[in-house]
Amino acid sequence: MKQHIAVIGGGVVGLSTAYALIRAGHDVTLIEQNEDVGLGASYANGGQLSYRYVRPLADAGIPRQALGWMLKPGSPVSLRLRADPKQWRWMLSFLSACNRSTNRRNATLLLQLGLESQAEMATWRAEGLDGYFWRQAGKLVLYRNHTAFRKAVSAIQDPTLEQALSPAECTKIEPAFAHLAPDLAGGVFSPEDEVADSYLFCKALKTSLLSLPRFRYLPGQAALVPETGKNCTLTVDGTRVATDLVVLAAGLNSRDIAAPLGIQLPLYGLKGYSLTLRPSPETLPSVSVTDYDNRIVYARLGDALRVAAMVDIGAEDRSLTPDRLESLRGLVRQTLPGVSTSGTPDTPWTGLRPATPTGIPIIGRSRCENLLLNVGHGALGFTLAAGSAARIATMIGHAHSDGVQK
Ligand SMILES: Cc1cc2nc3c(=O)[nH]c(=O)nc-3n(C[C@H](O)[C@H](O)[C@H](O)COP(=O)(O)OP(=O)(O)OC[C@H]3O[C@@H](n4cnc5c(N)ncnc54)[C@H](O)[C@@H]3O)c2cc1C
Repeated sequence: MKQHIAVIGGGVVGLSTAYALIRAGHDVTLIEQNEDVGLGASYANGGQLSYRYVRPLADAGIPRQALGWMLKPGSPVSLRLRADPKQWRWMLSFLSACNRSTNRRNATLLLQLGLESQAEMATWRAEGLDGYFWRQAGKLVLYRNHTAFRKAVSAIQDPTLEQALSPAECTKIEPAFAHLAPDLAGGVFSPEDEVADSYLFCKALKTSLLSLPRFRYLPGQAALVPETGKNCTLTVDGTRVATDLVVLAAGLNSRDIAAPLGIQLPLYGLKGYSLTLRPSPETLPSVSVTDYDNRIVYARLGDALRVAAMVDIGAEDRSLTPDRLESLRGLVRQTLPGVSTSGTPDTPWTGLRPATPTGIPIIGRSRCENLLLNVGHGALGFTLAAGSAARIATMIGHAHSDGVQK
C-alpha cells in the first residue's frame, strides 16, 4: 500500500533511503537541518565503496594495540578517556566485541550487506543516476606487518572476490606505491570494489528526487515526540508534520533525536580526517589503496586524490586538530612521495563516523510502531547506504511502483 514516509537526515544514508522508498512507489518527504544535503559525515569521506573490505574495528588484539596508541602521538587511532557515560558505555560494548569469533560473524553480516549495496547501486546507475566520479577501480590493501597480512589472507571468504598478492604483484597493480615494495608483506586485492565522491552522490540523489512529484524536500530541524499509544509524532522546527511512517537516518544526531522516545541508540562519533589533493594527473594512483598499518585510504576521484584516515575516540567535535592533520600529511609524504601537488594546498576536512560498538548498523523497526531506524553505519556508511536503504524499502513493502525512470 502506498504510504507517506518522512525521512530525517539528508546524508548519504537518508538520501539513499528516500530514493529506495520513491523507487518502491511511496510519497517521501526528506528533512534536512543544514543549508544543503551531504554536509555531515558524508561530505569528504574516503570515497571507498569497499564492498568486500568490511571487517569491523572491534577485533581480537585491538584492546592491547589501543594501549600502545594511547601512548604514541601520531598513531592512526587515538584514545582519550573522558568523564562521559556515553563513551564508557560504548567502549565497554566495543571491548566485549573484540574477539575473533564476533569479528568474523560481524564481517560476514557486513559482507552480505555490502554485496546487496553493490547490486542496488548498479541498478540505480543503470536507471541513469550519475555525476559522482564512480569507477570500478579495484581495492588494494597493503600490509607491512606479516602477522596482519597472514590474518587478512586467512579471513578471505571468497578467493574469486579477494586475491592475496605478493609485494611484486601489488606494485604491478598499482605502480604509484612501487617504492613501498621492499617493506611490504603483501596485499589483498578486490578487483570489483569501487570508488565515488560521496558528496556528489548525495547531490545526484537530491537532484534526481527533486524531479519527481512524489518527493518533497523540507529544510528544517526534525524532532520526535512520544505520543500516547505506540506511536511518535514528527515535528519540523516545532510544527507537527503528518506522515504514515518516519525513518530516522540522521547520522550521529539520531542518538539525540531518539532519546525522548526512550530509545537509547548505542552510537558514538569516531572522528576522522581527510585531505583532498590536486596532484599532477600522471602521479595519481588509479587503484584505490588502503595502507593497512597506517589505516589510510587513497582514492582517485576525478582529477583529485582523496586521502582519509584516523580514528579519534573521545573527540566528538568537528574541529580540525592541527597535530592530527600534520601527522596525516607526514604519513602521506612518506607513503606517496611521488605525488606532486605542484604547490597547491590540500583541503582538510573532519567528520564523525556514527559508529555502533560492533560496526553493524541498526536497520529496522523500533519500539514506536511508526518509526524505523537506519543508523550507525560507522566507517562504511557510503559503502552500505544503498543496501541499507533497499532493506528499509523491503521492510515497508512496495506500492505498485512506477520507479524513478522518467
Ligand atoms: C574521515 C572519514 C572517512 C570515511 N571514509 C569512508 C569511506 O571511504 N567509505 C565509506 O563507506 N564510508 C566512509 N566513512 C563513513 C561515512 O562517511 C559515514 O558512515 C556516512 O557518511 C554516514 O552517513 P549518514 O547519512 O548516516 O550521516 P550524515 O552524513 O552525518 O548525515 C546525517 C544528516 O542528518 C542531518 N540531521 C541531523 N539531525 C537532524 C535533525 N534533527 N533534523 C534534520 N536533519 C538532521 C544532518 O545535518 C546530516 O546532513 C568515512 C567517514 C569519515 C569521518
